Amino acid sequence: MIEASVKIIPTRMWQRGPLRQMAASKVTSTFIPYTRTINDLTFAGRYICDRCTEPSQGVYRQNVGEMSGNGHSSEGIDWLCDSCVKGRIRVPLTSEQRQTASMRLAGLRAKRAALSLTLMSAGS
Ligand SMILES: [Zn+2]
Repeated sequence: MIEASVKIIPTRMWQRGPLRQMAASKVTSTFIPYTRTINDLTFAGRYICDRCTEPSQGVYRQNVGEMSGNGHSSEGIDWLCDSCVKGRIRVPLTSEQRQTASMRLAGLRAKRAALSLTLMSAGS
């Protein structure tokens, strides 16, 4: 049962930590009592991805460059969900992109064929 009066507030769990759904009471069955009280919120729900802002079962820390040497900036650290982590490594082509790629390849082949034809006629 969901209590409409209880707000779910995305909360940064600690400095440079992941975002997590927090609430003052057990909103849904996914919420569990948290060991600490953060801003009067004692129940923790799902983690929230820094990139797609979707609630996730778990988020993974990503070190995006080591440029922030002073340690005060939270920039450069992302907490990403599983699909965003995978998306970073391997971006799947859409069917449209795939079509464009094959068309480009076909055009290249045609150009090459035309070139060899020209060479042959010039040679004879
Ligand atoms: Zn994500």
